[in-house]
Amino acid sequence: MLKGKTALVTGSTSGIGLAVAKTLAAKGAHVMLNGLGDATEIEAIRAAMAKDYGVEVGFHGADLTKPDQIEDLVKTTQSKLGGVDILINNAGIQFVAPIEEFPAAKWDAIIAINLTSAYHTIHHSFAAMKEKGWGRIVNMGSAHSLVASPFKSAYVAAKHGILGLTKTIALEGAEFGITCNCVCPGYVLTPLVEKQIPDTAKARGITEEEVIKNVLLAAQPTKKFVDEDDIAETFAFLCSDAAKSITGTHISVDGGWTA
Ligand code: NAD
Repeated sequence: MLKGKTALVTGSTSGIGLAVAKTLAAKGAHVMLNGLGDATEIEAIRAAMAKDYGVEVGFHGADLTKPDQIEDLVKTTQSKLGGVDILINNAGIQFVAPIEEFPAAKWDAIIAINLTSAYHTIHHSFAAMKEKGWGRIVNMGSAHSLVASPFKSAYVAAKHGILGLTKTIALEGAEFGITCNCVCPGYVLTPLVEKQIPDTAKARGITEEEVIKNVLLAAQPTKKFVDEDDIAETFAFLCSDAAKSITGTHISVDGGWTA
């Protein structure tokens, strides 16, 4: 389905980003991985993907808080893997605290990684997509692109922001075969969520099981975590030719949270 295309997936050394990268590779795309983590583990993931899916797989360790490193990530994908046909802005971090205690450094990091990095990747890859007359940009939103929760000010601001960026880029790409959309998941059990469970249990004086059922999944009518593969397939669909008329919008994969 995506044979001959190249996908750059930010934050793809873990969690949903890794699932998206594998799904796109399974559908024939060459993939540039990006993210933080142990170099040996990342190389093992990269090599296994190349072998399993028979596509080229690269890795670039750009820190997405650093604009010059993001520019190098895009340029390296273009020079080593033949372009950025598909751009998945997935990387994200979370921090939970009441606004009066919310550290400025955490605010800045969340806005930089979850929102501003997508500006930089799009800024550097858009001209080449226009020239080719084909491009797919899929941004990682969240149920928090549509509704809020207390104590997540920076995250909710960034995720609402990325939906606005999505709509603007869709309008700018519309006549050039470029679509831009946003996928908005509910809770998925990845390291980003796992880290919140013990802290929340301690803060509320309840068990970790109670945190999962009564706090995390309280807003998710299915009362189940969303599978990361379901999200990955949604990204892949939005990258396909079947989705060529879908642009400037979001798809919720949130177990009914925002219904
Ligand atoms: P995760 O922690 O498993 O993965 C995050 C990825 O981002 C990792 O590869 C990490 O190395 C990378 N990353 C973090 N900081 C970086 C930096 N400075 N530079 C480069 N890479 C960096 O988390 P996840 O749950 O898979 O989250 C992926 C995306 O999905 C995020 O944007 C998150 O907001 C979004 N999301 C997650 C959930 C959920 O419930 N897990 C729900 C909705 C949206």
